[in-house]
Amino acid sequence: MVLEIKDLHVERNGQEIIKGFTATFHPGKIYTLMGPNGSGKSTLAYAIMGHPKYGIIQGTILLNGKDITHEKAHLRAKAGLFLSFQYPVEVPGLSLSSFLRTAVNNLQGKKYSVMEFHALLKEKMAILKIDPTLGKRDLNAGFSGGEKKRLEMLQLLLLKPSYALLDETDSGLDVDALKIVAQGIQEARKQKEMAIIVITHYNQFLKYLQPDEVLILVQGKIKAHGGYELAQRIEKSGFDSFINKQETVS
Ligand code: ADP
Ligand code: MG
Repeated sequence: MVLEIKDLHVERNGQEIIKGFTATFHPGKIYTLMGPNGSGKSTLAYAIMGHPKYGIIQGTILLNGKDITHEKAHLRAKAGLFLSFQYPVEVPGLSLSSFLRTAVNNLQGKKYSVMEFHALLKEKMAILKIDPTLGKRDLNAGFSGGEKKRLEMLQLLLLKPSYALLDETDSGLDVDALKIVAQGIQEARKQKEMAIIVITHYNQFLKYLQPDEVLILVQGKIKAHGGYELAQRIEKSGFDSFINKQETVS
């Protein structure tokens, strides 16, 4: 089981953003992808998930040996990839609980009845301390930032992917939200061996997570790769030393 990305080049609106990304991710490990704003972290996450607006110019993505470079997003999800999903659209009349049941049934090829799923949902919500009444609310009907984070972690526990990409964007994450995400990741790891790739800047968060591997992305390329000590180095001296550097340090 491995997710292998080889020499990936990605464009958005005709502009090359990822300029040769190579990395290997193993289930059971926590990875952190760091880099200055605009270095291409989100672009990379969307391209790995198969978002149609991100074009792969060159390179390959192998999921457990299978080439998924040009596979549709829902097939990647079925094969075990997960990208944190932020409920971009409001869906009146579709409850969170129905949405999640459909997603789990589709992805895992199961047929949970409403009653069975209710029990499963209740159990996972309790782990994450989610107010059970949220399940009845319409999708995206005014969820707070903290609630959205909890719901994202809920999806992780329900869908149990082999590879999870969590793009913790710089804005709007308070300390409580970070704690929720960190706790969700620990819980997910207890339940299933998965590779968790977290895109973040927060040092406090990194202390909770204690990533096994840290990747530094600058201007669309990996400029350094190391252990947690690499993140600590960035905390002290920033990304400056990686900018405009030619060779990769391991
Ligand atoms: P990061 O997540 O590391 O902050 P992004 O992947 O969001 O970086 O952005 C990488 C580059 O792609 C930036 O130069 C940004 O301006 C550009 N970019 C992001 N979204 C778009 C878009 N919709 N159209 C064109 N360029 C974009
Ligand atoms: Mg981003």
